[in-house]
Amino acid sequence: MMLFMAINAGSSSLKWQIYDMPSEKRVAKGMIDRLGKQDAIFKASYGEGQKFEQQEPIVSKEKAAALILTRLKSLQIVDRLEDIKGVGHRVVSGGEVFEHSTVITPEVLLQIENLSELAPLHNSIEAYYVSVFAKLLPHSKQVAVFDTSFFTTLAPVNYLYPIETKYYNQYGVRKYGAHGTSHRYVTQRTAEILQKPLDQLNLITLHLGNGASISAIEHGKAIDTSMGFTPLAGLMMGTRSGDVDPSIIPYIMEKEHLQTASQMIKILNNNSGLLGVSGVSNDKRDIDDAAATGNHQAQLAQEMFVNRIVKYVGSYLALLDELPDALVFTAGVGENDQPVRQAVCEQLRHFGVKIDTEKNQVKGQETLVSTPDSTIKVLVVPTNEELMIARDTYNLTQK
Ligand code: ADP
Repeated sequence: MMLFMAINAGSSSLKWQIYDMPSEKRVAKGMIDRLGKQDAIFKASYGEGQKFEQQEPIVSKEKAAALILTRLKSLQIVDRLEDIKGVGHRVVSGGEVFEHSTVITPEVLLQIENLSELAPLHNSIEAYYVSVFAKLLPHSKQVAVFDTSFFTTLAPVNYLYPIETKYYNQYGVRKYGAHGTSHRYVTQRTAEILQKPLDQLNLITLHLGNGASISAIEHGKAIDTSMGFTPLAGLMMGTRSGDVDPSIIPYIMEKEHLQTASQMIKILNNNSGLLGVSGVSNDKRDIDDAAATGNHQAQLAQEMFVNRIVKYVGSYLALLDELPDALVFTAGVGENDQPVRQAVCEQLRHFGVKIDTEKNQVKGQETLVSTPDSTIKVLVVPTNEELMIARDTYNLTQK
């Protein structure tokens, strides 16, 4: 058996999946939530719908990783840990250094740590787990799959901010993007669905989840994306504002007597977006429920969410050299929320986009939801970042 793990580590959660390769069959998936706490939760699903869940103290990251491996054996998901040939780690920032996924050597690990400045909440934690898994699974290769590498194809005209060049030269201030693994996955998958060579494929990919971003893809490569120096930029999201006039920052700080800019950034990251406007929730389903009962703020949040999507799609339609082959909707909202897809596509009708209302009822399944005479196809393509991570890990370990 050749098994490959995909690890997605956060500050208080650790998500994992195991794939059998090259068949790409998912063997198991699970997560540890509330990591570091006495009431942490270990969850796994595997086999034919089997599930395991237990609340228990999991106080350290190292214990968390070790527990996953112990349970893989005790739940008989894996016979021998030696069958796990590679562990792929999601790494948030590869900066300008990593254009592709890469096998992790001590030098690579150091570079990932050095990039922590660009992703303070992520890179150092991810690097730590790389060391932990390398120690626990000494026979396996560790691979880093970067959220940013899909966007290293952006040209300076699209990744630079119109500020003094020294800030880029000295401090690396530029657009790095995020969600790259998801945009890359749906791009590749769409090439297969449309049976078009990747290097001839032009798309606008819409990753609409709790975090949300839109990318313009030309000849299979990203030319622009809505997230920026950090994942705070671009669309309105669950709790993130997306693009705002930066002058708002000192203005609100002064009015609210905030001491530091980071307090303000926290507000823009955690208290804004759907949550901030609706006052109800960051979860689109809660917003929809509230809007249906006549909550005006929730209705406004719905409208603003669609409005930002339309503006980004519109700007990328203008940026691409020709009409793209498809608009591709993915992630929680993109895959499941038919009114959002409907509203976005209706607003794009003067570009000849026509959605098939019947087909658009789909939730979470690969489907062509546009009519045959639509100038641009509209597709729902569920994302699978973990499979992409497992695939990269498999491919790199075969070299
Ligand atoms: P993330 O991975 O960024 O946390 P997801 O891709 O899981 O986010 O997306 C979460 C969002 O998707 C939430 O706003 C949630 O309400 C929305 N969502 C999930 N399922 C549905 C559904 N069936 N209908 C509408 N929205 C949904």
